[in-house]
Amino acid sequence: MTEAYHEINSKFRKELAELHEEGESLNHCYQCATCSGICPVFRYNSKYNPRRLIEGMLTGKRDELIHDPNIWLCTVCHNCTEVCPQGVRVSELLATLRNLAARAGNIPEHLRAEAKVLIETGLVNAPSKATISRRAKMGLPELKTADPAEIRALLEHLDFIKLAAKEEKAVKEESGGGKQQ
Ligand code: SF4
Ligand code: SF4
Repeated sequence: MTEAYHEINSKFRKELAELHEEGESLNHCYQCATCSGICPVFRYNSKYNPRRLIEGMLTGKRDELIHDPNIWLCTVCHNCTEVCPQGVRVSELLATLRNLAARAGNIPEHLRAEAKVLIETGLVNAPSKATISRRAKMGLPELKTADPAEIRALLEHLDFIKLAAKEEKAVKEESGGGKQQ
């Protein structure tokens, strides 16, 4: 059965409000675009527009948003949240959206590769052999890193490892091929 437009709206808003303690702030957005005006990503790439993303959350475009590769362009600088005249927790709502996308298996390949490095080494950007040898030649001290086993235990606890390995295909198979809604 096709759901009424207002029913779809309230469902997604409710879900976001449940996932984030200040998710309810979404309802105060009046689409002034101050968030887009301050966003450093939007300045260089109009495909990434926080106001439009918030609008999509307000109008219940859950499926479209969690499949939008542009949601991963956010630098999490929090400028948008700081300037929003309505107190909408823009950056946090966008992070919640990415969490939903990740749970649905929609993680861009480059981030999946970064996650793999983090899981294996405990570092997001492990230094290359060339960097290590150049540092040694310059007389710089050896880079100290956190114990990868400890990092791995934390990531395991947070379900990060399972999530990073989970692809959309696997999610679909688990849910019997149903639409993520
Ligand atoms: S700045 Fe706040 S009120 Fe204005 S569009 Fe962005 S989220 Fe909505
Ligand atoms: S947190 Fe993301 S959406 Fe907000 S201003 Fe920074 S880059 Fe733009």
